[in-house]
Amino acid sequence: MRSARRVDSTVAPDTPVQYLRGVGDERARRFAAVGVETARDLLDWLPFRWEDRRYPTRIAEIRRPDAAIAVRGRVIAAGAKTTRVRRMQIFEAVIDDGSGTLLLVFFHQPWLGERIARGDVLSVWGTPHVNARGRLQMQNPEWEKLEGEQGDEEGAIVPIYPQITGIPPKVVRATVRQALEAILDLDDPMPEPLRRRLGVIGLSEAIAGLHAPAALGPELEQGRSPAHRRLILDEFFAFQLALRIRRCGEERRRKKRKIVVDERIRAKVREVLPFRLTAAQKRVLHEIAADLQSERPMYRLLQGDVGSGKTIVALIAAMLAIENGHQAALLAPTAILAEQHYQRVRQYVDHRVRLARLAGSTPPSERKSLLAALAAGEIDLLVGTHALLEKPVAFRSLGLAIVDEQHRFGVAQRQKLFEKGELPDILVMTATPIPRSLAISMFGDLELSVIDELPPGRTPVRTVVRGTARLPRVWEFVESELAAGAQAYVVFPIIEESEKVDLKALTAGVDAIRKAFPTRRIGMLHGRLPAEQKRVTMDAFVRGELDLLVSTTVIEVGIDVPNASVMVILDADRFGFSQLHQLRGRVGRGSRRSWSILIRDEGTSEEAKRRLQSFAATRDGFEVAERDLEMRGPGDFFGTRQSGAVRFRVGSLIRDFALMELAREVAIEAVEARAWGDPEALLRLLSGAEEATPARD
Ligand code: ADP
Ligand code: MG
Repeated sequence: MRSARRVDSTVAPDTPVQYLRGVGDERARRFAAVGVETARDLLDWLPFRWEDRRYPTRIAEIRRPDAAIAVRGRVIAAGAKTTRVRRMQIFEAVIDDGSGTLLLVFFHQPWLGERIARGDVLSVWGTPHVNARGRLQMQNPEWEKLEGEQGDEEGAIVPIYPQITGIPPKVVRATVRQALEAILDLDDPMPEPLRRRLGVIGLSEAIAGLHAPAALGPELEQGRSPAHRRLILDEFFAFQLALRIRRCGEERRRKKRKIVVDERIRAKVREVLPFRLTAAQKRVLHEIAADLQSERPMYRLLQGDVGSGKTIVALIAAMLAIENGHQAALLAPTAILAEQHYQRVRQYVDHRVRLARLAGSTPPSERKSLLAALAAGEIDLLVGTHALLEKPVAFRSLGLAIVDEQHRFGVAQRQKLFEKGELPDILVMTATPIPRSLAISMFGDLELSVIDELPPGRTPVRTVVRGTARLPRVWEFVESELAAGAQAYVVFPIIEESEKVDLKALTAGVDAIRKAFPTRRIGMLHGRLPAEQKRVTMDAFVRGELDLLVSTTVIEVGIDVPNASVMVILDADRFGFSQLHQLRGRVGRGSRRSWSILIRDEGTSEEAKRRLQSFAATRDGFEVAERDLEMRGPGDFFGTRQSGAVRFRVGSLIRDFALMELAREVAIEAVEARAWGDPEALLRLLSGAEEATPARD
């Protein structure tokens, strides 16, 4: 194949990498393993940082031995040795640049003895520091042997690429430099007016701006340069455009039902309202009401921090459907929560709405008459678990489905819901404050409503972290709060989803707590208990007949007992931030001063301690979620199974969420106003680069 190389001809975007200088069949295979087959692919192989090696520092002038610098000098001594203490193999070289000498220390690279010898001129890049013997040295610097006056990489800002197994970084850089010849032949798939609207530079300019930037600066280093902006918007815009096009297909279907919100209905709603809505609640209700009245089916995500009052909003939305002669369904992720919703909704609406509940545990006889009533339209609002999605459950006219806790509700369930009605409107509520950036990217076809305000009179929850050694003191404190009439939760770190509740650990834990609180009424709650028993325990706690509720994370979502003011979380370091925040949100719901006490093992790492402290210092749920996301990534954030999170090549959902919103806005314009031509054609163009099959011989 070597004879086929077109070393001297110009490089075009579709030139295979094996035709480039320095790339043989073996390296071509290595490139292919990371998806790089053509010059165009190389242009898309982006650096993630840059090093300024333009100005070598004179050794005598190294002043701040803590930043990476370039140094150039002649090797005056070199040799391998083994350290006495840990028997590590090291290679040392001393370079002299006429102003002074610098010791280079390479660990675990004994072969360097064959590469670096006295007399060589090296250009090195690394961070100098003063070693224990007071000598200036650099450890494991990047190095290059200079053949002539200049190295390939001297006098340049050097792009640093992700490592490719089997190809030295220097070769990757040299190969990309060749591919850059093809840059002027790149077609920009974005029409000029669209580029203007998005405020982005041309494609060639952007790509060149990353591989060979003219200058370094914080913008470039932090991914906020015009070049970054262009490439990020490329992928975000294509993504949003695809979502809008799909959504349009769905929206072309029109609802047959007509919802109107008139004075009579408003009066009805006012009757059930036990308090004044917050401004945020009013705003999202307007958004929802507008959707319900529109001809297109609603698909809206209602986000709000724990305790922000989503339930009443959902209920009012349900009433709008019901008062117009349709039915509504409220789906909760667990039986306990469904029961809670049912009880609360019943309090709110009294007898104004015909209400029923359905769970897996509903006895067959009751179930039969319930289903008959539902099909006959004699039930207005059905509250339940996923049992509600089963086949035999049929509505007369399902107008609105409300789903609590989006992250436990998948696409398949959404489809099932759709089948329960005539294009029912769907409102998804989440008490997990999904960062807006992530929500938009994951559920880009949902409209977003955010309740960003808590009802008045809430007392902020104080969060503290304590080691297990202080547990006796913590129990004393809890006892003093109980004595003052409060109630408390103690949460065990047992994850219900794993299906295997470690009952032994839980029972032992409860016994220990009973000993610590001999006079208190204590209840226990976990997912494996029969539904009836859970209900009885929960009811007792709600009514204040239990002082302490010992529980697994089943209480994580939704539970609302205003008199409960202390939340003790055992082994807190085993929970994610969002989950801790959910748990913490169970207290601080009434007028009592509230506490969340995170207990960590005495042996937890410093890192885990810092994490917990940083959580304790953060009150805002969205901030907590952003941090959680940063630390764990979207996959873990939602639990790997539920995650539909999309990953982007250049863009970051966290850093670039403002660009995601811009992309969304412009994608809506593109589809609705047919701005910039046919959206489908535009989408094909935008994603064309990735789909083009690389030319092969
Ligand atoms: P979440 O958003 O976590 O589901 P809930 O709907 O459970 O919150 O509401 C939390 C508590 O706040 C409930 O006790 C509810 O009755 C109360 N609440 C909701 N909205 C208001 C309001 N506008 N004014 C006063 N209390 C409110
Ligand atoms: Mg809730």
